[in-house]
Amino acid sequence: MKNVQAESRSRHIILAEDLTKVYSAGQIQVTAVRGVSLRVEPGEFVAIVGPSGSGKSTLFYLLGGLTRATSGHVSIDGVDFATLSDAQRTRLRKHRIGFVFQRFNLLPTLSAMGNIEIAYAVSGRKEPLDRKYLDHLSDMLAIRGRLNHRPSELSGGEQQRVAIARAMIARPAIVLADEPTGNLDTKNSDAVLHMLMRSNRELGQTTLMITHNPEAAAIAGRILHMRDGEFVHEEKGSASGDVVLKAPVG
Ligand code: ADP
Repeated sequence: MKNVQAESRSRHIILAEDLTKVYSAGQIQVTAVRGVSLRVEPGEFVAIVGPSGSGKSTLFYLLGGLTRATSGHVSIDGVDFATLSDAQRTRLRKHRIGFVFQRFNLLPTLSAMGNIEIAYAVSGRKEPLDRKYLDHLSDMLAIRGRLNHRPSELSGGEQQRVAIARAMIARPAIVLADEPTGNLDTKNSDAVLHMLMRSNRELGQTTLMITHNPEAAAIAGRILHMRDGEFVHEEKGSASGDVVLKAPVG
């Protein structure tokens, strides 16, 4: 049994085993995630969908090591978060995972460029920031001309495209996106999805996206449906087929 678990940990870039998260507020307890197990192979694109309150965001925080499970385990690249100190967990997260959030979460006092540079600085990479790669990312996301602006001077779509550049700049092995198109119009949603799909395919990243939007979920290779803290249904998406999305906005 031990060998099977060890083999699974080494083969699956994200591995969750029997994860449960209970929130306690005084006498009241809410079980947000209820015994969830998940195995994601390197290079997969997985979408998690479900109604509001079904536990998607809680699961996202558990998988990203942003919160601790009440019971169960999460391993990233074969390393169990539970075996790490807070500092080690932060280091693993910064080095291996790029996060994209619905509310963009850019630092308001820094320019777009400053936000991207600081993300690179905290990623722990030893080599200097690859300016050519930054140019490439900025062109693909159509933000090159906006890099000197602060978030408040950018549209929502531009802010999310900067947030994607920030998530991608250190070439993380894993991208975790929580409702990345939740605050965007169709054109900007398409641009963001296009970029997530492209980096999944071209950089071989492993992508896990939480979404309400069935069209967004459809670009994944695998779609997991969540309800009341559990996975209730799994279906194939179209990541391996032809997906028609518009190119990033210009
Ligand atoms: P979703 O992302 O699918 O909307 P959430 O993970 O945000 O679901 O929430 C799942 C359940 O956990 C909900 O019942 C929610 O009210 C509850 N919940 C989420 N965060 C907290 C918290 N910090 N404290 C108490 N209950 C919470």
